[in-house]
Amino acid sequence: MIPAVLPTYNRAPLAFVSGSGSWLLAEDGTRYLDLGGGIAVNALGHAHPALVQALTDQAQKLWHVSNVYRIPEQEHLAEMLVDRTFADTVFFTNSGTEAAELAIKMARKFHHEAGHPERIEFISFEGAFHGRSTAAIAAAGSEKMVKGYGPLMPGFRQLKWPTSAEDHAAIRAAITDQTCAVIIEPIQGEGGIRVVPDQCLKGLRDLCDTTGTLLIFDEVQCGMGRTGRLFAHEWAGVTPDIMMVAKGIGGGFPLGAVLATERAASGMTAGSHGSTYGGNPLACAVGTAVLDIVGDDAFLADVSRKAALFRQGLESLVARHPKVFEAVRGQGLMLGLKCKAPNTDMVKAGYAAGVLTVAAADNVLRLLPALNITETDITEALTRLDRAASAVSTAI
Ligand SMILES: *Cc1c(COP(=O)(O)O)cnc(C)c1O
Repeated sequence: MIPAVLPTYNRAPLAFVSGSGSWLLAEDGTRYLDLGGGIAVNALGHAHPALVQALTDQAQKLWHVSNVYRIPEQEHLAEMLVDRTFADTVFFTNSGTEAAELAIKMARKFHHEAGHPERIEFISFEGAFHGRSTAAIAAAGSEKMVKGYGPLMPGFRQLKWPTSAEDHAAIRAAITDQTCAVIIEPIQGEGGIRVVPDQCLKGLRDLCDTTGTLLIFDEVQCGMGRTGRLFAHEWAGVTPDIMMVAKGIGGGFPLGAVLATERAASGMTAGSHGSTYGGNPLACAVGTAVLDIVGDDAFLADVSRKAALFRQGLESLVARHPKVFEAVRGQGLMLGLKCKAPNTDMVKAGYAAGVLTVAAADNVLRLLPALNITETDITEALTRLDRAASAVSTAI
């Protein structure tokens, strides 16, 4: 018999009753150190006092009104994001998928209004993840995600993940007079914590500029302070035309956003897009509280400092367990351990050792801790990961 909850997830047999900081308490009373962070969503850990305050204050005033009206909380958060980024304008969604959907629509609309309705094709990359809508699965193109859902939305093609000059030559060759936009995660999350070299992001920006192609960054997972900058692309010193944000932006409250330049957004006029819930007062009150903390330069510097500490510990973990691990990957607190043993064995051994991690493609173990994880908790995390790795190593 089919379970009451549609069985689309491979769930671990764990359920939690409460959380505080980087710790989760399970039904049976066991405490787990959370290095999954709800897959980069719990940017400030669990039950952060400022977020709880913002949510409960707003909950007592006003939850939802509809985008039929002005929403001051939304205007305020949009202005904060515009101040802190390349963007001139923001649209709020409830998820990363919805942000992807709008980014795609906005890019096509831009060319349409510019007199080039033939520019409809998106170039994306193998291993990408942009969400689960029909457009987003077409953009990612992976067999696992698209199988049985055809016919796929036309206008998407995937190229090899860019790491070299040859890969850039291939992208240049793939851009035609029908290309609409290039869409890329500066650091692939689901694809296995793969960082695009700064040089490649710069090269992509140049290619897009010379061909009139829009550049879309998907920072749903790597953005919102995860790398020690508010957005990952800042490290490369280039900006996109359109950017998708979600996950960490709401700190656990469903919130996403599309950020864009005035030019890229020029096709989006009244009536051209909308959302019932997107950017409601409750979501924006929490989003503002998150950005107040994560957008602070001292906080971001601290993320980088802790990331360096964590990474150093992970390097020695890899050295101590050569049968289990191959290398450390990632940037800031978006870290991956490329495994030799099956990554899912490590995830399971982590449960037994009281530490939560997430698997990613390419046999990578993902670590996406709260950005405010303490040094004590980093030390404890390393101890628990070491225990889990020993168990996996012994079983080999
Ligand atoms: C999670 C994710 C998405 C999809 O976001 P949802 O909120 O699950 O819809 C899109 N892109 C990237 C890079 C993601 O990590």
